[in-house]
Amino acid sequence: KSAKSSTKVSKVRVIVRVRPFLSHEIASISKDSVPCVSTLTDNGGLDFDHEVSIHLKDQETSRQEWYKLDGFFGEEHDNVVRIFEKEVKPLIPGIFHGCNATVFAYGATGSGKTYTMQGTDVKPGLMLLAMSTVLSMCQATGNFVEISYYEVYLDKCYDLLELKENEISVLDDKEGQTHLRGLSRVFVTSMSEFHDVFARGIQRRKVAHTGLNDVSSRSHGVLVITVSKPSDQGLETSITGKLNLIDLAGNEDNRRSGNEGTRLQESAKINQSLFALSNVIYALNNNKPRVPYRETKLTRILQDSLGGTSRALMVACLNPGAYQEAAHTVSLAARSRDV
Ligand code: ADP
Ligand code: MG
Repeated sequence: KSAKSSTKVSKVRVIVRVRPFLSHEIASISKDSVPCVSTLTDNGGLDFDHEVSIHLKDQETSRQEWYKLDGFFGEEHDNVVRIFEKEVKPLIPGIFHGCNATVFAYGATGSGKTYTMQGTDVKPGLMLLAMSTVLSMCQATGNFVEISYYEVYLDKCYDLLELKENEISVLDDKEGQTHLRGLSRVFVTSMSEFHDVFARGIQRRKVAHTGLNDVSSRSHGVLVITVSKPSDQGLETSITGKLNLIDLAGNEDNRRSGNEGTRLQESAKINQSLFALSNVIYALNNNKPRVPYRETKLTRILQDSLGGTSRALMVACLNPGAYQEAAHTVSLAARSRDV
């Protein structure tokens, strides 16, 4: 099959990022380390309007599948800056004009979600790159920027910038708008301030759930960058828009992960919430009259930032050595994107 090009632009763009094999993986692979995912229409992410065909192949059984998505960033483009420039930066001017935006990293545990969103000290991820761009635009235009950072774990929300009791309630107002009551917003005026606040939040996320192992990969981590402008009256500020950057919980395939008992139930709940998110994106991309925002906490919270004038991007992260896992992720990503 060859890749069919079209000029359709999805409302929620869905792209793939394949991470490289890690050194310990290369060491333990006896055969050549051939990635299980590739594309014929690899354009280095340069061609914005054309869909790409993603090819998945199981090196062992030679089983293969094709999917159509909006972009492909292979390991040779190990450069998150490229994804940022092409896919995320175009969403930013909108938040200065009342259009919210959302970026998700989606994929199994170990596929590179946190690396993509958060990055490392030497390789900043999308969160940092976005923050830096928003901050300089705010400085140039006299706007303010505030950040919130929270986590959604098993349908509960936890403020990660709050020292004390940090569970926050999700409430609907009379207009049917969903709010996170009491979620902190912290003004930041420089990248070093941002680093300080965000690093404390990341640390809190690591230790937030005593007695539970590694909740951070089983919860959704949401960084919100809110832009506001001084109102005409002076003192008050009014919000112009926000950008949500989300490191989603790992979508494990329970038939394969060997999860049992509580872990299986927990993971089933996570998969339900990711499936609900995929249903919302599908409904938006395919102009369905009803968008099922109400099904989960995350989609309720994001209702004002998905659909309408909002724009969104889903980055499906893939481990090049895990065919089944990659097929699971890409099929759901492709399903969200289009019929
Ligand atoms: P996830 O958050 O999806 O569980 P991580 O982001 O923690 O996965 O990535 C798993 C491992 O792979 C980490 O050791 C990370 O440093 C490494 N990694 C992920 N993406 C890349 C990449 N693009 N280049 C180099 N190393 C990567
Ligand atoms: Mg992670």
